[in-house]
Amino acid sequence: MMKVFASICLLVVLVAVNQAQAESLVCNVRTNAIFKAWPDMKTPCVNSMRKQIQKEIHASVQYLAMAAHFSTDTVNRPGFAEHFFKAAKEEREHGSKLVEYLSMRGELTDTVKNLIQVPTVKTANWSGIAALEDAFKLETEVTKSIRDLIKTCEGTGKDDNDYHLVDYLTGVYLEEQLHGQRELAGQITTLEKMMSTHGELGEFLFDKNM
Ligand code: FE
Repeated sequence: MMKVFASICLLVVLVAVNQAQAESLVCNVRTNAIFKAWPDMKTPCVNSMRKQIQKEIHASVQYLAMAAHFSTDTVNRPGFAEHFFKAAKEEREHGSKLVEYLSMRGELTDTVKNLIQVPTVKTANWSGIAALEDAFKLETEVTKSIRDLIKTCEGTGKDDNDYHLVDYLTGVYLEEQLHGQRELAGQITTLEKMMSTHGELGEFLFDKNM
């Protein structure tokens, strides 16, 4: 009887010690007031950033669909395929950089679960010119979307302007967008000229030089 009583006592002591240890291991760092006060981006700006991340992912998957189309053995345009694989990678990187930016500002905590959604993309039997025109339209939409994002993050109130983000979006993202649009416009012009004089051979030669 004494042995059973002693065993029960030992068990109770072990459970108590175990619980005390578990409580001492709970991390309370995030409850520190400094972490609550640190993120200072305005909600409309954060929401617009999240929309922009989705736009970049959409562009990335759209270009991946185009790259796959030009990679099929019945289309076989390796230049176009490589061009769109590269574009898909760049758009994914744009999305990643905006995620990293939100992380740097401490704005990812509660938003991660809805941040990345699988987009629906257009598929078609694209010719070279049709694909470049679709890409141009897509880039024009993305440029408009970045401009809207900048406007939102400038805010309307006295202390609303998110100077650092606005500077980053204007100097890095818009700069790249405008150069990209100019490049596509030039490619469309050249391909149209080549096809007007050489027909299908024009697209073949253009593909070789991409
Ligand atoms: Fe982009």
